[in-house]
Amino acid sequence: MQMAATVFDELRRIVGAQNVLTEKEDLIPYAFDGTAAMQQMPGCVVFATSTAEVSMVLKLASETKTPVVTRGSGTGLSGGSVPVASCIVLCLVKMEKILELDRANLTMLVEPGVVTIAIADAAAAAGLFYPPDPGSMKISTIGGNVAENSGGLRGLKYGVTRNYVMGLEVVLPDGEIAWMGNKCVKDVAGYSLKDLFIGSEGTLGVITKVLLRLIPKPAAKRTMVATFNQMDHAAEAVSAIIAAQIIPCTLEFLDRTTIHCVEDYAKVGLPLDCEALLLMETDGHPAVVAEEAAHMERICRENSCLEVRLAKDDAEAAKLATARRSAFSALARVAPTTILEDATVPRSELARMIRFVEAVAKKYKLRIGTFDHMGDGNLHPTFLTDERNKEEMHRVEEAFKEIFDEAIRLGGTITGEHGIGLAKKAFLPKFAGDAQMRLLRDLRRTLDPAGILNPGKMFD
Ligand SMILES: Cc1cc2nc3c(=O)[nH]c(=O)nc-3n(C[C@H](O)[C@H](O)[C@H](O)COP(=O)(O)OP(=O)(O)OC[C@H]3O[C@@H](n4cnc5c(N)ncnc54)[C@H](O)[C@@H]3O)c2cc1C
Repeated sequence: MQMAATVFDELRRIVGAQNVLTEKEDLIPYAFDGTAAMQQMPGCVVFATSTAEVSMVLKLASETKTPVVTRGSGTGLSGGSVPVASCIVLCLVKMEKILELDRANLTMLVEPGVVTIAIADAAAAAGLFYPPDPGSMKISTIGGNVAENSGGLRGLKYGVTRNYVMGLEVVLPDGEIAWMGNKCVKDVAGYSLKDLFIGSEGTLGVITKVLLRLIPKPAAKRTMVATFNQMDHAAEAVSAIIAAQIIPCTLEFLDRTTIHCVEDYAKVGLPLDCEALLLMETDGHPAVVAEEAAHMERICRENSCLEVRLAKDDAEAAKLATARRSAFSALARVAPTTILEDATVPRSELARMIRFVEAVAKKYKLRIGTFDHMGDGNLHPTFLTDERNKEEMHRVEEAFKEIFDEAIRLGGTITGEHGIGLAKKAFLPKFAGDAQMRLLRDLRRTLDPAGILNPGKMFD
């Protein structure tokens, strides 16, 4: 079904003709997100520049029963911002202002289109710290981060986006504007509705302002790389670090394939003579940092590491973090299609899960690169494949089914940070169970009775 010309006219009246795209060649870049092998042309793309405009667009969509797919930068990895046929893609990248930095309350109020790194930079310029740092932080928006409850390299110690959201302005599907939360550290008035919208993947409302919590900057940090000649030794070292009650800020894993791809791409001098490496960073009071670093080094040695190398200065530490952040892009260069997953397991099960993923790749004769937020138990097995090869894609699907089943069997989850979207919705009922699925559906029906927001995502 095509969108009616009257809807286009009304959208142009609301946001201005310059903010409505309808030509095929203009729509193509908005037909997909970061998820491989999923695309759909939208009916149009609309750039809103204010909450009032978002409200009017949603009111119109509600009245005309036009589906709306909200979009930030389109870096999502579960198909969340992939359009549905004849929908309005409501893109918020032009709502990109930092509205307030409140030093007295350690908060920042931002519009949804602000790029994540701009928030971290603005906080740092004020001597403060915004910890969530998804690998995509140079391009992802805070609206997308909140809608996916994104994690990052520092999630182990500092938590995920949810832990830094104090308030949200949300436009509901009928256009009504609601504000939830405030600058109070404590607030138990009513249900915590803001938490319902965090991680809601654009299915319940459109986030138009975010009030963020900032924290003091850690006084010191130390970055180290440990290399291993067996992947499961690295995984066992991570489990041992956590069991020793050390919570470093970063505990990331790269396998041999990823190390070589990253080094080829970023040329940062990563060690190439190993099967796996751990990137470890501890931060805080200098004395604690020194003690934790020494303890982690000892644990790596007890778990048969080949070498532990300390970054000599901040510049080298930053280079190593950049290398890790470029893992997905580096892997994406070596195959036409890269399919990245984020099955997550309790941290005591890491070595078992790593061995399982390796065995599955062998069983299905697939090429795989793995880089993980291992301290969080969050694995990113990435299949290097070609979507034009239908037979191989079938093997990839079968391999993922086995990986998700094993993650659930080990007490884990089918997604640690990328969300359900389209990519994982087939797996959600098995993971969530009947009662939870019914609650999810009831909530969605209550908030969006006409089902206009991101229909078909998360569940049908
Ligand atoms: C190279 C790379 C590295 C990545 N690393 C990480 C990582 O370390 N950790 C991690 O968690 N993710 C990571 N991601 C995934 C992705 O970047 C995050 O999910 C990110 O939060 C998406 O932001 P976005 O602005 O691109 O949102 P989009 O992809 O545009 O949208 C994502 C979802 O949010 C919804 N949405 C967007 N804006 C709003 C809004 N204002 N209101 C309501 N709903 C909205 C959309 O409808 C969609 O469902 C990575 C992706 C890439 C490509």
